[in-house]
Formats: sequence, C-alpha cells, structure tokens
Amino acid sequence: MDLTQNVKAVQEKIAAAALAAGRDPAEVTLCAATKVQTDDTVRAAVAAGIRVCGENRVQELTAHLEADAYAGAEVHFIGHLQTNKVRQVVGRVALIHSVDSEKLLRAIDAQADKLGLIQDVLLEVNVAREESKGGILPEGLPALAELALGCPHVRLRGLMAIPPVSTVTGENRKYFAEMRHFLVDIIGKMSDNHSVVDCLSMGMSGDYEDAIAEGATLVRVGTALFGPRPPVTGPAH
Ligand SMILES: *Cc1c(COP(=O)(O)O)cnc(C)c1O
Repeated sequence: MDLTQNVKAVQEKIAAAALAAGRDPAEVTLCAATKVQTDDTVRAAVAAGIRVCGENRVQELTAHLEADAYAGAEVHFIGHLQTNKVRQVVGRVALIHSVDSEKLLRAIDAQADKLGLIQDVLLEVNVAREESKGGILPEGLPALAELALGCPHVRLRGLMAIPPVSTVTGENRKYFAEMRHFLVDIIGKMSDNHSVVDCLSMGMSGDYEDAIAEGATLVRVGTALFGPRPPVTGPAH
C-alpha cells in the first residue's frame, strides 16, 4: 500500500467528481478517517497532503494529540460521542460531526462556555433510519437545529450522515440528496446570517463520488487511503 499514491488518487477522484457535477473541486474537503491508524501513519498521511483528520474514538484522539501526530492538519471528531467524554473533545477539535441529541448539544455548549470558546458542530442525521446507527431521525432535525442555532457557545456548521455501506454505485444517492434538502431547509428557516451553515459531511470510501455529485462539501475516507482495517475487537468508542 502506498499512502502517498492513495492520497493523490483519492484527491484526483474528488476533483473529477466535483467537476462532473459542475462544482469547484476546492469546495470539497478530504477528511482522512484515521481510526486504528498509528501515530506514524497519521504523520505520513499529513506528509502526503492530508489537511483534515477525522477521529472516531476519544482514546485515539487523545493519544494522537499527545504524540503531536496531527501536526500540520486540522482534527475533526467524526465518531459517536458520549456526553461523559465531551470534556476530552471540545476545544481540541475544529469540528464535531456527530451531534445527535439535545443532551449532547447542551453538554458541548456548557463545556465550550467553561473553556471560553465556541465549538463548531455538525448535526448527524440517521438518514436511512437504521436501528444500529447514531444520528437524529429526520423528523427531529428541525428542532435540534433550532436549538443548536440558539446555543451561544456552539456554532452550527451543517450536517453529517453515515448511510448504509454501499456496494453498488448510485445506491446511496437518494440519501445524499435528502441530506442536501435537509440543509437547505435549515438555511431557509434561519432568521439571520450569524453563522455559516454550509457543510455537508457525507460520503466514504465506497460512495464519496456519489456524495459529491449530491453536494457533499466534506468526504470522510479511510479504507481508500489506508487499506482495509483489522476487524474491531474492543468497544467501538
Ligand atoms: C471509518 C469511518 C469512515 C471511513 O470509512 P471507509 O469506508 O473506510 O472510508 C467515515 N466516517 C466515519 C464516521 C467512520 O467511522
């Protein structure tokens, strides 16, 4: 596996997908999903041109931060976040992708207040209504978005989704399109422009080109950069 080559190949496919959709490739950010990767692999990814790393697990985030493995890149939290771990994440990452409840939102707001900062967040939507997945169901989204826009120490930046793993090209396009509509609805209901709500975090190794065709501004890619991951043995977060 050649990480540098993979980064280049994915970046090229992102640019091609954006151009095919009549979009500016600069509108789409590649976030490397670094779960299970070592400090050295994270460093190598950054050296290969990765500008954003997405971390799933608080423990790995903390370890990579302590090792200064992300130096030169921005860090996002993309995994399920438990309220009792908010302290280890707020203020340490540029963007939390996975806010899916009022309780979590309020905990992030309170911690950001304590630290005297404003935390950028996305709301995670369970767009395919999967029992096994986190994310707020679509009908709960307007209320959670309104709440987020009212939190003084949280800046709502957009939405995130993890649709089912797709094996067939085009399979997830309907979900990506739904996500874009959800974002447009939120923007339409905003009474002022105090925050820029324009981020759509969607698309992974199997479907990022489809996600870009439907408006993704950030794709989270692991396997296509780092190769297959070993099966998960411990708890997921
Ligand atoms: C692992 C992970 C990804 C990347 O998945 P790949 O299929 O390996 O590209 C993206 N988003 C989240 C939230 C993840 O946990």
